[in-house]
Amino acid sequence: MKEVLYRSTRGGFSGVKASEAILQGLAEDGGLFVPETMPVLDVKLSDLAGKSYQEVAYEVMKLFLTDYSEEDLKYCISHAYDSKFDTDKIAPIVHADGAYYLELFHGSTIAFKDMALSILPYLMTTAARMNQIKDEIVILTATSGDTGKAALAGFADVPGTRIIVFFPHGGVSPIQRKQMVTQKGANCKVVAVKGNFDDCQTGVKTIFNDKKVKAQMAEAGFRFSSANSINIGRLVPQIVYYVYSYAELLNQGVLKDGDPLNIVVPTGNFGNILAAYYAKLIGVPLGKLICASNKNKVLFDFFQTGVYDRNREFMLTSSPSMDILISSNLERLIYRIAGNDAEKNVAMMKALSTDGKYEITDEMKELLSDFRAGYADEDATAKEIAEVYKNADYILDTHTAVASYVYRNYRKESGDETPAVIASTASPYKFTRSVMTAIDAKYQDMEDFALVDALCELSGVKVPAAIDDIRTAEVLHKDVCEIGEMESVVKGFLGM
Ligand SMILES: *Cc1c(COP(=O)(O)O)cnc(C)c1O
Repeated sequence: MKEVLYRSTRGGFSGVKASEAILQGLAEDGGLFVPETMPVLDVKLSDLAGKSYQEVAYEVMKLFLTDYSEEDLKYCISHAYDSKFDTDKIAPIVHADGAYYLELFHGSTIAFKDMALSILPYLMTTAARMNQIKDEIVILTATSGDTGKAALAGFADVPGTRIIVFFPHGGVSPIQRKQMVTQKGANCKVVAVKGNFDDCQTGVKTIFNDKKVKAQMAEAGFRFSSANSINIGRLVPQIVYYVYSYAELLNQGVLKDGDPLNIVVPTGNFGNILAAYYAKLIGVPLGKLICASNKNKVLFDFFQTGVYDRNREFMLTSSPSMDILISSNLERLIYRIAGNDAEKNVAMMKALSTDGKYEITDEMKELLSDFRAGYADEDATAKEIAEVYKNADYILDTHTAVASYVYRNYRKESGDETPAVIASTASPYKFTRSVMTAIDAKYQDMEDFALVDALCELSGVKVPAAIDDIRTAEVLHKDVCEIGEMESVVKGFLGM
């Protein structure tokens, strides 16, 4: 099989092996690694129908991670997708109210980030061995709420690694916060930053790209990597469940081989929907890829107008994991529609960082025909939760509800009746307060864990271990820092 190598979207690096790209996370020129050639699925989807999640994972991941041996890759897959998930299916599909909800929240932290972050530590430690890396790997992570906990759960006590998570102070749900600040593990550090998610993400990128810090780190025996969706090791495992969905719907007789399937994704950093796009590029007959935003609808506006403009108010919503104005992974798409032209991409990313905006050309716009976009405000999101509960006795989390609303709206406006998979990105238990008050205002005055019990009663879905565990867990991480203090927090934790 032909080796797939990676290059940076900023033009500084090419010919990088998958394992090296995973170790680096972000390229040193500030770009994101993309495959130089897009591989093609070399098994028929009809042959994948009825296969297990792990089997499909191997068939997809081997296409992108060509320098991993079969034995290594299968080891990573079998250790990641095991009993940490509360269902053998790993990613079950639920048919409710006219759509197929792909439940990506059955992992240990009950958000879709587990799909990639349960395997990333294995991919990374394997990559370190393959490349004879002796330095300790330091994972620096900015989180809008869910990546942080999933990365902590994945990397806690993994030998040869440390992990530092920055989250926006006051910008995550109470349960998201509690999940993170109770994290055990001597190699883990969690800090609240007095800023929003974009501040956290920019802070992390700045530390990452600082040559002086990097040299000091190397001196002390450390090297940085990233668990954010900028890491190709996050993106590749996310392609798997779109391939799996298609095969599973073939298996269920919902689709016939070759039929189109639309995909709807509640979007923040543009990682999850980009994975769907990659699934389409490797040969899955996907139809429209529908990008759903909350009130922070910078992506919706981009797809409407071709102008990406982050100069607007940052709003906190009931779907905090999508409260993002700088969608990092969009850069991979921009690079591609610019004809894989790093120079053009750099010009736009420079404009984004200096003026907060850029505009793509008409030619580039035409290459976005696979995508549709929509958004849901707070009211529409809450109504969608209530509506789907009423019609189908199925309870959505706030993020999934954004996608669900956007899907119904799209279907009504376009008349497109193609079957659709909606990426269901979090368990409703993670956003209990917003979910329960959307169903009935009477829940407003109940405290957080009483709401958990009420949700259990209403949904008949067992309270996940992730929630039970934090009821009484001790808060271990109390640090709050200013945006400008992030670097010294990192150095402090590493004893530098
Ligand atoms: C991270 C997250 C999203 C957004 O995914 P991106 O890959 O950043 O677009 C949506 N929903 C939930 C619950 C998330 O945790």
